[in-house]
Amino acid sequence: MSFDHIHPQSKGGNTSFENVCLACRSCNKYKSDLTEAQDPLTGKIVLLFNPRAQQWSEHFAWSLDATRVEGQTQSDEPRSLHSG
Ligand SMILES: [Zn+2]
Repeated sequence: MSFDHIHPQSKGGNTSFENVCLACRSCNKYKSDLTEAQDPLTGKIVLLFNPRAQQWSEHFAWSLDATRVEGQTQSDEPRSLHSG
């Protein structure tokens, strides 16, 4: 596991409880200093999931065979972009 800065240090993010979360090294490296990405289904630029502001279970679920994490929300839904 590694510490991920939700708002990257390279973009002014600080090392505080509110801005740091645990992530596996692979995911952390893949996220890099991104805070948004293009949704492959809609092509829209959307904010990445924020584990300090959003509920994991509202956005993701394990597949029935428990081998994959699957998205549960449409990227153009406001709740996927903000807390709540
Ligand atoms: Zn991971």
